[in-house]
Amino acid sequence: MKINRNYFNLQDSYLFRTIAQRVNAYKAAHPDAEIIRLGIGDVTRPLAPAIVDAMSNAVREMGDAATFRGYDDGGVGYDFLRDAIAAYYKSRGVTIDADEIIVSDGAKSDVGNILDIFGGGATVVVPDPVYPVYVDTNIMAGSKIIYVNGNEANGFLPPPDVSENADIVYICSPNNPTGAVFTREALKAWVDWALRVGAVILFDAAYEAFISDASLPRSIYEIDGARRCAIEICSFSKLAGFTGVRCGYTIVPREIVSADGKALFDLWKRRQTTKFNGVSYITQRGAEAALGESGLAQCRENIAYYRENARIIGAALTKLGIRYFGGDNAPYIWLRCPDGLGSWDYFDYLLNEKNIVSTPGEGFGKNGEGFLRLTAFGSRENTEKAAERLLR
Ligand code: PLP
Repeated sequence: MKINRNYFNLQDSYLFRTIAQRVNAYKAAHPDAEIIRLGIGDVTRPLAPAIVDAMSNAVREMGDAATFRGYDDGGVGYDFLRDAIAAYYKSRGVTIDADEIIVSDGAKSDVGNILDIFGGGATVVVPDPVYPVYVDTNIMAGSKIIYVNGNEANGFLPPPDVSENADIVYICSPNNPTGAVFTREALKAWVDWALRVGAVILFDAAYEAFISDASLPRSIYEIDGARRCAIEICSFSKLAGFTGVRCGYTIVPREIVSADGKALFDLWKRRQTTKFNGVSYITQRGAEAALGESGLAQCRENIAYYRENARIIGAALTKLGIRYFGGDNAPYIWLRCPDGLGSWDYFDYLLNEKNIVSTPGEGFGKNGEGFLRLTAFGSRENTEKAAERLLR
């Protein structure tokens, strides 16, 4: 039997397992300890009422023969949702045609699946530190990976210092794990590079809704030339708390064509309609409601709630004199471990002395060593308690 031996090159995903093991061992030894989890990037606020109403109505429609729906015709997303996404971009000054959008069950799937249209063995540029899915999906596909370094000196926003030509570059802004956000100028440098070498930018905008600073780009299409070289992948997970509902979308502008003149949109559509059968009607109605007037206002309240959590954590770190990145326009706080401690040493200190669970930076790449990620996705009560404990 022939199997994909690239899988043997994957590193064991030990990060969250090791965290769980250490937390469980601590809990077993200290059963009364009240542990606060600021490690995993999952949301905690419930769905907004406008979304719940829309999904409830959709369930009732599905229970009535007159309004029942089967397969989403074409599997690329209902027009009502693709139009709502295009209108969401329009409200931010970006023109996207609804026909350039394909709806999916989330950004993680699209980030991995889009590699199908490039075939195996592509040359890809990946920043370090990084959302590990970019690395693992490329190892599975047998890509050649070139890393660009994010570090304190460049504010964890690596510039296009890449000597080789490449097929793909990943840019995640606002960034997981560092919370750093690309400025227009910094993104323009990548767009210019991509156009020069003929690469495609896979722009992961999963956290765009956290950007409050109007001078920072929320979509790569705010940058001149991006329509010719950038695919944008986005999600309702962080905007609308859909981590358990599952809905995302990918935008492939018509202008992006391969050297032999093939539109990448057509390849992506072919891939999706061949291997994926669409997102449930109920979910798509919920996503549409998230972008409606009241839905968006309610989602923004949840985002403001998380943003205030980030401010609370950041204020405590500032008082402690701990340097950190992110937090202002992102739900992640990326801090430099104090006293020269390593990521795991500081993780253990926070767990054992403060009963706070974090994520060690080295789980996101070699440049994450000496850093730690905290998330703002906890409850207010827990976030305030965590801040007090940090200061105690
Ligand atoms: N992209 C980034 C950078 C993420 O951090 C995450 C999830 O944490 C995702 C994509 C996945 O999003 P989704 O829930 O839509 O699959």
